[in-house]
Amino acid sequence: MSRTILVFAERRDGQLRRVAFEALGAARRLAGEDGAVHAVLAGSGVAAEDAAALQARGADVVHIADDPSLKDYAPEAYLAALGAAMDAVRPDALLLGHTGVGRDLAPRVAAAYGAGHIADVTAIEASSGDDIGFIRPLYAGKAFERRSFAPGRPWVVTVRPNNLPPAEPADAGARGGGSAQALAYAPPPLLTAVRGVLRRASGQLDLAEADVVVSGGRGVRSAAGFEPLRALADALGGAVGASRAACDAGYCDYALQIGQTGKVVTPQLYIACGISGAIQHLAGMSQSRTIIAINKDPDAPIFGVADYGIVGDLFEVVPLLTAEVLRVR
Ligand code: FAD
Repeated sequence: MSRTILVFAERRDGQLRRVAFEALGAARRLAGEDGAVHAVLAGSGVAAEDAAALQARGADVVHIADDPSLKDYAPEAYLAALGAAMDAVRPDALLLGHTGVGRDLAPRVAAAYGAGHIADVTAIEASSGDDIGFIRPLYAGKAFERRSFAPGRPWVVTVRPNNLPPAEPADAGARGGGSAQALAYAPPPLLTAVRGVLRRASGQLDLAEADVVVSGGRGVRSAAGFEPLRALADALGGAVGASRAACDAGYCDYALQIGQTGKVVTPQLYIACGISGAIQHLAGMSQSRTIIAINKDPDAPIFGVADYGIVGDLFEVVPLLTAEVLRVR
């Protein structure tokens, strides 16, 4: 079965987010050999290389809305840009990343187009014919449901970062690289405007998209106690995360909090240091590919979800791990 799929290729800080390529990879598979994949690039000062990168990985047509009103995320502006693409393409499905922007935008588009909406998809299962199953976690990852769409309406799907394989150059196949074209976008009146962005300069990778996350809990004991974790994360090319207890204690910024009321991460490797493994923390990391726990309490619940456990003092174990990573690198 062939389909027409539209992908919202989200940018942040002037760069395409990795989840845009993950959505593109899913779109290519859903479209089928004879289907068409379109992508929307919205922003102010959209780089031609971004369109080229999408085309090189399987987008047949990239629709570009380049306008000052799209510089920062404004729901009215982005809904208008995406709406222009929906009207031009009339897709069977729209895919977005399950990011802050995607979570805000997807239900708006679904409501505007009378579309079905499935959020936070971590896997897509195609069985026979038309029956496509969208798998999404429930109850903080304790259960999964397989949901599918009723026929006759467009689909709007958000995909959780770091779960679906990203589109590769091979996905472009023999399509000849696709094309790019300007979208007929008329900026609507904006109801709110961003006057400034206040951000702590952590300089670290986006937690949600990092392949490796080294996380610290109350066991880290102080802000300075996070330094060995930062060194390990740097050695592994990863990002630093934290439990809520560590954030509450002021050891680190709340932007690093992982869990039910923090960020959800699914890296290839999650290293939990001095974290007990409360259910609210597990909600944000238990889907990680490989989990290593370092805790001096052999009965800590975190060992129940860990693939590898090290019972010991994190201040001894973490520097040893860092030294070993640097040695073999
Ligand atoms: P603790 O539970 O105090 O564990 C510290 C661990 O460090 C212990 O296991 C100890 O053995 C170990 N340790 C101490 N010293 C060392 C050392 N030198 N070397 C090795 N190990 C050591 N929590 C989150 O993380 N994220 C959330 O999003 C979140 N949301 C919440 C929402 C609600 C509504 C509620 C009620 C709670 C939420 N919590 C959340 C809090 C959660 O219940 C726990 O309190 C919290 O996760 C505990 O953090 P922790 O594991 O760092 O601390």
